[in-house]
Amino acid sequence: MSYSVKVLRDKCIGAASCVAVAPKTFKLDSQNKAVVIKSTGDKDADDAILLAAQSCPTAAIEVYDESGKKIWPL
Ligand code: SF4
Repeated sequence: MSYSVKVLRDKCIGAASCVAVAPKTFKLDSQNKAVVIKSTGDKDADDAILLAAQSCPTAAIEVYDESGKKIWPL
């Protein structure tokens, strides 16, 4: 299973917890908003990606499974 992610930039407040949890997937850009480095992580990154999304205080990260079904936010 490999998840894909999307950052809703309007909701991002630059709290950077996603970057702390999944630094290979997220980084902050010059506007202090999260951007996705790699939208589909490898298998081992799935847990970190989901955890990062769940750690976002504004639910600005959407996570989709392989079939395109949204699994976060619920
Ligand atoms: S945790 Fe959420 S608010 Fe913080 S940088 Fe990441 S996407 Fe933005």
